[in-house]
Amino acid sequence: MGADKLEENLTFLEHDIRRQTGASDFHWFGRAGTALYVAFKSVIEKNNRVEAPEIILPSLSCATPSNTALMAGFKVRYSDVDLKDGLVTLENIKQRVTKNTIAVLLIHLYGNTGNAKEISEWCAANNIVLIEDIAQATGALLPDHKSVGSYGDFSVFSFNKTKIIEDGGGLLILKNQSFKNTVENKIEELEYSGIGSTDRKSLALSYRNLHHSLVALLRMADHETEKRISDSFMNIRNMYAPLYLEKFKYNPDLLKSWELLDQNIANRNAKAQLYREKLAANDKVRIISNAASNVCWRFSLVLDNTLDLHEISEQVRKDGFHVSNLYWPVNEFFYPSDTCPNTKFISRNIINLWVDASVNEEYVIRCAESLTKHINHLR
Ligand SMILES: *Cc1c(COP(=O)(O)O)cnc(C)c1O
Repeated sequence: MGADKLEENLTFLEHDIRRQTGASDFHWFGRAGTALYVAFKSVIEKNNRVEAPEIILPSLSCATPSNTALMAGFKVRYSDVDLKDGLVTLENIKQRVTKNTIAVLLIHLYGNTGNAKEISEWCAANNIVLIEDIAQATGALLPDHKSVGSYGDFSVFSFNKTKIIEDGGGLLILKNQSFKNTVENKIEELEYSGIGSTDRKSLALSYRNLHHSLVALLRMADHETEKRISDSFMNIRNMYAPLYLEKFKYNPDLLKSWELLDQNIANRNAKAQLYREKLAANDKVRIISNAASNVCWRFSLVLDNTLDLHEISEQVRKDGFHVSNLYWPVNEFFYPSDTCPNTKFISRNIINLWVDASVNEEYVIRCAESLTKHINHLR
């Protein structure tokens, strides 16, 4: 497909996003990770205020935002999250602000949406750039009913595997026009690693294995040991940098999925609602998926800490259902000095259940029954 045709097709999708968010510029990459990297590089480049720029990131997250922030040259700081939904509040962010803070990343995690309006007003008043990460919240609404991406100076979408739309790609959108030229320059300078797909796969596998190995150690670690584990990780993390820079490859299915987004979201919500009905009355679980955002990525709940998360996850898996326990606190890898007790609690007690197209409503009902059975058995 020629470049003109490609542009024409994506214009349709971009037009929708422009209407929803007011964004003016659209830049496509292979991954949201690359989009984040370009945003972070641009913020650092344009800053003429501080020598050692810092970014505040949520401590409950995958590692991609942290890895790309470090690659771009930030010092990373971590805010704790709210126990009710796993998202950062303005109060959490304020606890980490220093004179070197020039950026804040707000992640709309699990499809839940943070108070972007309030955070963006505070950022603007403090000369801090706000980036919204909407990788897990495509199509979601903020607490004030605006679309995700309506407040960030930058916002980042992911259309890769496991997200709401899975046809490939990462999108950087820009609302703050003053960054226009800097972003274009940073994209021009971008050096894609040229790593082959086989090497990329083994490197990604190596990262996953490393992550799991270190999480197993961190589970048993006291604070001193935690620091040693973090130091080891920080020593080698840059070997994984090539993973994060990936060129966009256009897949026409992306547009079909975009047209079907409302239906996709409605199907997910119907399943989330079923889990909610089946599990809401259980006093040993606290549901953290928030129906008000209108998007459910995975249906997420936190177990009472008298229950054994791993025992219960294993039992439900044995009954044939998907269970994940995302995420481990990223601060424990990247900057353990920022302690985040709420994230620590959530990460050690969370259960994520599937609502995507791979499961139907009957599955959801049986999965909720399996979970309830094992909770009641172990209580
Ligand atoms: C998946 C994810 C990313 C990275 O997306 P890629 O397209 O895989 O680079 C970034 N942030 C969050 C919150 C994610 O879930």
